[in-house]
Amino acid sequence: MNHRNDHRLILFPLPFQGHINPMLQLGRILYARGFSITILHTNFNAPDPSSHPHFAFRSIADGVDQSEVAKLDVFGLISLLNTQCASPFEESLREMTSLQGGEAAPIACLISDSLFSFTCSVAERLKVRALMLRTGCASCLYFYTKCPVLKEKYVPTHGSRLQEAVKEFPPLLVRDIPAVDSKEPELLFRLLDDLIKTIKSSPGVIFNTFEELEHPALASLREVLSVPFFPIGPSHKFCVKSSSSSLLAEDRSCISWLDKQPPKSVIYVSFGSLAAMNEAEILEIALGLAYSGQPFLWVVRPGSVHDLEWLEKSPSCFLEALEGRGKIVKWAPQKEVLAHLAVGAFWTHNGWNSTLESISEGVPMLCMPCFADQGVNARYVSDVWRIGVHLNGGLERENIARAIKRLLVEREGEEIRERALVLKEKASASVRQGGSSYQALDALVNHILSLK
Ligand code: UDP
Repeated sequence: MNHRNDHRLILFPLPFQGHINPMLQLGRILYARGFSITILHTNFNAPDPSSHPHFAFRSIADGVDQSEVAKLDVFGLISLLNTQCASPFEESLREMTSLQGGEAAPIACLISDSLFSFTCSVAERLKVRALMLRTGCASCLYFYTKCPVLKEKYVPTHGSRLQEAVKEFPPLLVRDIPAVDSKEPELLFRLLDDLIKTIKSSPGVIFNTFEELEHPALASLREVLSVPFFPIGPSHKFCVKSSSSSLLAEDRSCISWLDKQPPKSVIYVSFGSLAAMNEAEILEIALGLAYSGQPFLWVVRPGSVHDLEWLEKSPSCFLEALEGRGKIVKWAPQKEVLAHLAVGAFWTHNGWNSTLESISEGVPMLCMPCFADQGVNARYVSDVWRIGVHLNGGLERENIARAIKRLLVEREGEEIRERALVLKEKASASVRQGGSSYQALDALVNHILSLK
């Protein structure tokens, strides 16, 4: 397992949790296949080298100023990173290529996050091949290829028309289109244009998904984009010793708390690393959890709630529910939580990592997409794979309580869980020897070794 193949890979993750996790998972998988791994990273949201002693780490001076970060949304930040990182990235890659031939293993290729739009051209100048890691799902990327036409027709849309079907792309509803009711959708659509161009010009794209889950989208993408695709997910399920790439400390006390809860009884609530809530929303969530009557584990990330005293101000019925059958943590070991027997459902924002982690453990989802690809992911969960329900009717306490009971108590929830367990088994089979993702990984390794 540990024979080094004398080739180095340079991995360049976009510095957000949902992008760092799948890139470092990929690093672990390819390390196990004999490659040496160098993580090239920004100073902004830098990963912790001590969690990955087998990797080399090298930072680039992104010049991102924390005060600037506070003013930008995630799309603004991605644009800024694309502007600021291009030259330090080039400098660093040039240095690494010039070191070759001495002690250092030759660079087989760069693997870049596909939202970095400059890496392909820089790598080409330096005669390094650049594969792309697409951290979102294939169905969503296929939808993005249609965006230039669809956005003309649907963006912006407001009010009741948001509930209408996108006839050109079933089963999406208009409200699932990213930035559909935003005042400034142009920035996002520019990023998506760049993403498609980057992917088209790459010698290969790695996906954190599996063929059995997304065969139709993968087949369409192969036709439309004519690029070799390697769906190797769920990457965290490959039998590689797992280590955390969390930017925040994981509070493991929730695992011993889960140990004390009845099987399949807990609603796990987390909206990922970026989404934020206002005071009214946090109050409805708290009351919804109280009214549901079910045990709950709730991740309230620092910075995700503006009012730091929200908990002290919470109504007594929530505080009693929290005391009796609830737990709040700032950050959870999510994959372990989802694999725990006590967890019966996941109330999620449907970031792709969270969605795939839930699928991998057969956990039904309560979907509450917030932005970007999450609307598309959530629609596939509810309408295509039928392993979750939307929080319809808005973020309102009674709705929340009803939706939680639908999943955890009612017959409908059992049927959803049965389908989720079938998909879980397909996910496990895909990463076993001979499975589709296992084969895609073999093909990826051969592809990398054949790149000149
Ligand atoms: N995550 C975690 N602990 C938490 C919440 C999230 O480890 O308490 C991880 C989760 O397992 C996932 C990532 O953070 O791998 C979030 O990525 P996702 O694509 O779901 O959402 P994003 O944060 O990009 O919106």
